[in-house]
Amino acid sequence: MHFARLLALWLFTALYLVAAERQPNIVIILADDLGYGDLSCYGHPTIRTPHLDRMAAEGMRFTEFYSAAEVCTPSRAALLTGRYPIRSGMCHDQFRVLRNRSLGHLPESEITLAEALKAKGYATGCVGKWHLGVWEFSPAGHPRKHGFDFYFGLPHSNDMDPSPFAPKGAGKLAEQQAAWWNAPLYRNEELIERPADLSTLTQRYTDEAVKFIQANQAKPFFLYFPHTYPHTPLFASKNFSGTSPRGLYGDVVEELDASVGRVLDTLRATKLAENTLVFFTSDNGPWLIMNQQGGSAGLLRDGKGSTWEGGMRVPGIAWWPGKIKPAQTQRTLACTMDLFTTSLKLTGAEVPADRSIDGLDIRPLLFGTGTVQRDAYLFYRGTRLMAARVGDYKAHFMTQAAYGQPKAEEHATPQLYNLRVDPSENFNIATNHPAVLSQITQAVERHRATLTPAQSQLVEFAPLPEKR
Ligand code: MG
Repeated sequence: MHFARLLALWLFTALYLVAAERQPNIVIILADDLGYGDLSCYGHPTIRTPHLDRMAAEGMRFTEFYSAAEVCTPSRAALLTGRYPIRSGMCHDQFRVLRNRSLGHLPESEITLAEALKAKGYATGCVGKWHLGVWEFSPAGHPRKHGFDFYFGLPHSNDMDPSPFAPKGAGKLAEQQAAWWNAPLYRNEELIERPADLSTLTQRYTDEAVKFIQANQAKPFFLYFPHTYPHTPLFASKNFSGTSPRGLYGDVVEELDASVGRVLDTLRATKLAENTLVFFTSDNGPWLIMNQQGGSAGLLRDGKGSTWEGGMRVPGIAWWPGKIKPAQTQRTLACTMDLFTTSLKLTGAEVPADRSIDGLDIRPLLFGTGTVQRDAYLFYRGTRLMAARVGDYKAHFMTQAAYGQPKAEEHATPQLYNLRVDPSENFNIATNHPAVLSQITQAVERHRATLTPAQSQLVEFAPLPEKR
């Protein structure tokens, strides 16, 4: 009897320990074209984002967080593979931004975060805008061919399918006419609505994300939740339309904020919060030519489409109650590719060893246990290596404004900015810092050495300055 009791106690303890050490859930929420300056907790004066502000207050807010590209497609490829888009090829002219009839897609040879986590027994779901393949034309581009068990959303941007009734040029206009758009909404492989009702999209995405969490409480899950908004054309649901002091753009961002609130509330209600890492960020900077319907990069220069800071530095908020200490501001550089490597490390999955992975393990930053050594951060615009950052310094070998500057300008002497002192990249200090330039040049050479011959062939480099 005594022995049986001991055995029962031992079994109970063992089961309890297994449960306590269950692999953490991973949730990545990605806004589309949300700028560095578009949230209250990043200084926006009139857009109200109480849920994201609370998420930051309960977790960690990054001030130097980067997407790996200045537009949608390569940025998403990098997040899901942990690699600069040049490595997967999701950045050359044809693939830089996939269109509604594009044949290109994320290559099968890439290992996505979903595939890696699925192999560790995770339930994997993607809700929202995919933009890594249009399966109507290329079935191999479907999210379920890249590690996701479940998918609900639009294959590409909401402006890529103008309806046949749209006035000429409607695709370029931000003014809202629901009837102009013909976006297809899918559940898994099934087309369920065309044109998709764009005004209820955020709400329905959120319903699906909440259901996915509720349905997978019993096992570890990875939810990738890339929103369609605030990419234009902008639509908000009835409850949010006309409510924000910032106008329609504000309505849309405030609805996204409420969506984040619902996801976090679901995690609290299911008692999963303390075993879930949630990360919120954006795929690239604000679409500035959309005028009042485009976002703000705050004090950063330029926006979406450019390798100036405004194109790639984005909000980044990490949340994991009990693991990430509340109310932290993290000023160390980190990026979306790090989410790949960090998630794998957190879950005990192997980081692929047969290829270059550019994302770093940022657990020391998240948990306050140490620092992270990064050689250089590279800024590609399509296949062009435009700039590189080492420490506080960023050198631009080429520059190109997102709009109104048709060709990249090559700089015989790169432009150099100290981002700690001059985050707006106003004051070129290259002439005073030849040693820094040389250090950055060497870091770029080290990066070049990691490219395969095929990748190298794809890259356009500006002539690097002489080593001194
Ligand atoms: Mg985008």
